[in-house]
Amino acid sequence: MSDGTVELIHEPKLYIDGRWAPGGGADLDVENPVTEEVTGRITQASTDDVEAAVAAAKKAFPAWAATPVAERAAFLRRFSEVLKGRADTFADIVNREQGSPPRVARALHVDTPIAVVDATIDALEQFPFTAELGNSIIRREPVGVVAAITPWNLPLHQVVVKVVPAIAAGATVVLKPAGLTPLAAFELARAFDAARLPAGVFNLVPGSGRVVGDLLTRHPDVDQVSFTGSTPVGRTIAATAAQTLKRVTLELGGKSPSVVLSGASDDQLATAVKVTVANCFLNGGQTCTALSRLIVPADRLAQVEELAAAAAAKYVPGARLGPLISAEQRKEVQSFLEPGAGGAQAVTVTSQVELPERGYYVSPTVVSRVDPNSRLAQEEVFGPVLSILAAGSDDDAVALANNSIYGLGGAVWGPDDAALDVAARLQTGQVDVNGGAFNPGAPFGGYKQSGTGREIGEYGIADVCEIKAVQR
Ligand code: NAD
Repeated sequence: MSDGTVELIHEPKLYIDGRWAPGGGADLDVENPVTEEVTGRITQASTDDVEAAVAAAKKAFPAWAATPVAERAAFLRRFSEVLKGRADTFADIVNREQGSPPRVARALHVDTPIAVVDATIDALEQFPFTAELGNSIIRREPVGVVAAITPWNLPLHQVVVKVVPAIAAGATVVLKPAGLTPLAAFELARAFDAARLPAGVFNLVPGSGRVVGDLLTRHPDVDQVSFTGSTPVGRTIAATAAQTLKRVTLELGGKSPSVVLSGASDDQLATAVKVTVANCFLNGGQTCTALSRLIVPADRLAQVEELAAAAAAKYVPGARLGPLISAEQRKEVQSFLEPGAGGAQAVTVTSQVELPERGYYVSPTVVSRVDPNSRLAQEEVFGPVLSILAAGSDDDAVALANNSIYGLGGAVWGPDDAALDVAARLQTGQVDVNGGAFNPGAPFGGYKQSGTGREIGEYGIADVCEIKAVQR
């Protein structure tokens, strides 16, 4: 790329009402965070384009909502085949705009959302759109026009988890992808087009949050805003959406705990540390569910520090560890590495590694003996920085885990029964017990300030449905 042999990805047109047409907004360059060079250029939507997209989605809604479930499922199966056929193209795009190493780009960014699509289709075929309750028929009806506003950390996955359940439910969608990583959304629009989705069911309007995102959030013809991003922007969106009392789904930040119980065996402890480091550093530390607080029995702290330092050393920047998305994000993450961020007793147990000359890399870092109320323990870092906290007992570990404004993900390690018991006490939307794998059909969302609503599969479909009771 740096020798100029890779062509720019150029997206001069928007996808609105089933057609590709030039956008009325300014062009936007997309940077590759590995090379720090421009890798793509897109056209952005003007406010007129947003109006056209919302009108198209509104017009398409009645017919799409009335399309039989079996037909919607057949369409989504065709779409899934298109995605699978283009998986390498998607991985290449994500690698270029988001910087993930090719293997991560394929497995995390492409294969995972494809699994979510397939799980959502299975859920659609079983979904209880009608049920009986006494003399009532309970109907679940798609909400109407859904505006999807997405972040840069997972440019395809974050879009798919919103758009596919909405389309499955019979809603229509206007998507505003993140400005730093809009390219995958264009390829997604091409995949919908190739799968012959009816005009207006999916519309793409890239642009800034303050203009395009805000207009969608205010728009009286948008029935629901489904937002993934930071907690501060989520608050703004909830406040703006309140003016039209539209429905809001918010998938926000996290500070997820990984709790090792006192009864954990040495093997469980070793696995816990390895998996927690891997999870925390995944995607350069830029995942909302990053297990960024490792909570361990105080009497095993020295053992954990040694294991964590050894595990972290394997994350070589530029190889296994990708860069952060931007120079600004790197500066933000570095601010968490300054003395005092983890409290007076905090010690860094990893050593600074050499970073590639180019690219927005940060040294993979493990900080131990972190003060539970310090900035490092309380705020989302969104970079490869793991905090280790010491617990005096299992009850203390649960209290530390729940000592957060967030409640998105979590993990527990130890004897199965005790671990399941602690999983029930964590105030988070997801908990993995002893390495339980990601389930592409399970509901995804947060407690507390990690958000409202659930995405993916049956729960994602339910999230974009109104409920009607018909008495007879
Ligand atoms: P962000 O909040 O800055 O932006 C997210 C999206 O909102 C972008 O498309 C942006 O253009 C748009 N936006 C910004 N201001 C807006 C406004 N006033 N009105 C409407 N739209 C607006 O988030 P980011 O920096 O792109 O992503 C990182 C954040 O996302 C992290 O906090 C991370 O935890 C969170 N995240 C959450 C989940 C989850 O599922 N809970 C998943 C991934 C990322």
